[in-house]
Amino acid sequence: MAFEHELQKKPNPFLPWPLSPLHPAPAEPPAMSCQTPATPAISAPQPAMCPVDGAVATERAAAMSHWADAAGAHAAEKKPAAQKPVSGFDQVVNGQNGASISTADAPAEIALPRHLRRGMQRAWRHSMPHGRSQEQGGLYVRNSDGSTQWLPGASGDSGSFAVNYDDVKPEQTVLAMGHTHPYSKQEGGYRDVPFSGRDLALHVYEQQRMNVVQSGKGLFGSARTKEFDELVKARGEDGKDALFEEIEAYWDDLYTNGKGNLREKAEAATRATSEHYHLLYYAGKKGKLNKVDTSPPKPPANQHDAPPQAH
Ligand SMILES: [Zn+2]
Repeated sequence: MAFEHELQKKPNPFLPWPLSPLHPAPAEPPAMSCQTPATPAISAPQPAMCPVDGAVATERAAAMSHWADAAGAHAAEKKPAAQKPVSGFDQVVNGQNGASISTADAPAEIALPRHLRRGMQRAWRHSMPHGRSQEQGGLYVRNSDGSTQWLPGASGDSGSFAVNYDDVKPEQTVLAMGHTHPYSKQEGGYRDVPFSGRDLALHVYEQQRMNVVQSGKGLFGSARTKEFDELVKARGEDGKDALFEEIEAYWDDLYTNGKGNLREKAEAATRATSEHYHLLYYAGKKGKLNKVDTSPPKPPANQHDAPPQAH
């Protein structure tokens, strides 16, 4: 298949938008809402440009601490209720003590909030117009009054989605980015295809801690951790591009040498890349995600070490 073949080519590592596994990078970028018209499209190596709007991003970080105790418009009318447990979603997107959550403290389950769930469902519904695959996506943001909303982005193409960071207002905080992974019949009709290497590598530049992918009924989450952030920090600002390429290449190599079909190889590569780089990996459906144990399978226990069995 043509797109299978295309994958063998080394994609331009500086393409700044997320791709689905195996879809070739487009020769020209789709109309990118996050690029100024004057910017030469792809030739310039500035991968941070699309995923992170520097000015917007800085304000976000400062605004984060504000949220923990904002209970919405009715807060004042309510008695100080018993401490509300922090949801798994909040733990991951807000982090703890100003840092991303540590791998050890990662929640086992995450329920996506309503607006994010619905935004992703709508994105999926529009991902196969006339039988052609077309990625869709958007951003889940928090407004200054504590309310949240989904900002749908412009339609992508068969294998990429240009993230609509330009739609985010300065007073809004991006909590999560989401996009779809559709595969048309001609492309194998796959569903449940999780992240691409580039999707995972983009965490290096992103301000938000969590990204989700919808592929058919399959829903997937990937999130940064304290350990991942420390790795990025240790490489320094100048090392970010190299780390981005390294993560993408790590996934690509596992994928290329993996066994099974596209979905199986992408799943195994996502699992192992997440483990290697300390990223949280979640999978589920209907708005509910469960943490995937990414640790490599343990060798079978040595028979000699097993306690003797009574017969
Ligand atoms: Zn993707």
